[in-house]
Amino acid sequence: MDYHLDESFVLPAGFGKAVRLKAGQRLKLTNPRGTQAVDFWAFSQRDIFEFTSMDNFRSFHSTVYVTKDTPLVSTRRRPLVSIVEDTSSGRHDTLLCACNADIYRQLGVEGYHRSCADNMHEGLGELGITLPFTPAPANFFMCVDVRADGSLDRLLPASKPGAHVLLQAEDDIVMAFSCCPQDITPINGEARTPHDCLIDIFSPATGRA
Ligand SMILES: [Zn+2]
Repeated sequence: MDYHLDESFVLPAGFGKAVRLKAGQRLKLTNPRGTQAVDFWAFSQRDIFEFTSMDNFRSFHSTVYVTKDTPLVSTRRRPLVSIVEDTSSGRHDTLLCACNADIYRQLGVEGYHRSCADNMHEGLGELGITLPFTPAPANFFMCVDVRADGSLDRLLPASKPGAHVLLQAEDDIVMAFSCCPQDITPINGEARTPHDCLIDIFSPATGRA
C-alpha cells in the first residue's frame, strides 16, 4: 500500500505533543541524534480510559521490550499501535515510569522542571482531553536491561543518529509523545542534553490505481 505525507513537525527537546490518528495512519518518529528518549502513550478515541498498558503488554507478550513483533496492547488487551519499521538499536523500554515532578525534586532540582508526565497532560490538554492520572509510558529509544538477579541496568542510549520507528495506528487513537526533558541523569546520553525529534504523519493513498 502507498502512503502520502500529511504533516511534519518538530517535537521540541523537553516538550510534548499529542495527535489524533485514524486506524491505518502511520507516524514516523525520528531521532536525529539517536540519543533522545521519547515517552509514548496511545489512547482510544472512543474511550480515553482505554490506553496502551505496559503491564498488559508484558503479560500479553512475555517480554519487556517493544519490537515489530509485539504490538502495544491496551488496558483491554487490544492492539492499539504496531511498529512497522525500526532502524533503532531495537531497545524500547516498558519498565520505567514517565519522569515527573517528584523525580526531579528527589534529584535535587529546586523549582519547576519540565517532565514527561507534564508533557503528556499538556499535549492531551491541547486536544481538549483531561486525564486524572499518568499511565505508564512506552519509552522509545530508552535502553533498560533486566539483569539475571532482577535488578535494572539503565544503559546509555544506543541508537544511531537518524534512527526512526514507524508506528501504525491499529484503531482510531490519540498518540501522545514527550521528548524527555531529563538533563540530570544520562538516560538521554552522556551529554545530559535533550534534543529535538521529528514527526511525520502518513495516510494510506486511496482511490488511485
Ligand atoms: Zn522523561
